[in-house]
Amino acid sequence: MTPENAVSVHDVVVDYRTPRGPVRALDHTSLDIAGGSSVAIMGPSGCGKSTLLGLLAGLAVPTAGTVTIGDQVVSGLSERARVRFRRQALGVVYQADNLLPHLTIEENVALAAAICRRSSTVDALDVGVLLARLGLEGLATRFPDQLSGGQRQRAAVARAVVHRPRLILADEPTGALDPANARGVIELLIDLHHDVGATLVIVTHDPAIAAYATTRVDLARPATKMEASHVG
Ligand code: ADP
Repeated sequence: MTPENAVSVHDVVVDYRTPRGPVRALDHTSLDIAGGSSVAIMGPSGCGKSTLLGLLAGLAVPTAGTVTIGDQVVSGLSERARVRFRRQALGVVYQADNLLPHLTIEENVALAAAICRRSSTVDALDVGVLLARLGLEGLATRFPDQLSGGQRQRAAVARAVVHRPRLILADEPTGALDPANARGVIELLIDLHHDVGATLVIVTHDPAIAAYATTRVDLARPATKMEASHVG
């Protein structure tokens, strides 16, 4: 049986419509990610990394081909079902922390857990314990603008994992951090994805960050071919 967090992208084509005709962003791309593993996706600008993440996040559906997470064919769901799927099954970390500025760190993380609780039976992690794990225990009642960039990004990691997602998508999660903070954030992300049993997909330009993942995928441009190689 397929593990509930395995990811399969099968023969996917994505064409964007533009006034000058269609632009092919992904061209018969296939990718299998073992449940619970971590994958770094690299490649030059324009090779389709954001498009691929958008498909995994259920934000878009492919022109052709299928995206499957566990036994759920995400690319075949209605928009409404994809919204529910995102809430329950997905945690996302962006380059910018995207914390809500008028909520404290604790409230930001608790809100993510509460949104998930409405549509899922999965028990969320304890917010206090999670923040302590991330070295933020004394900062829980601060607002995002009262934290450093590295601390804010750790809070963003807490928010992404608190509902025990099946899949964590990280889009340049350390892109705005200095090397020391970047290492701290990626190490926590790797530890926590193991703890919650999630599959982790990281898009990064940084080979030092990619080296933390068990598998690296180089997405070629035009995206006709992808080669996976083990780096860990
Ligand atoms: P990456 O994230 O690797 O930089 P993208 O997925 O953003 O690549 O883009 C892949 C290709 O699709 C590029 O040629 C880009 O110009 C094109 N593209 C991306 N989004 C759109 C869009 N909304 N409309 C038209 N073309 C797009």
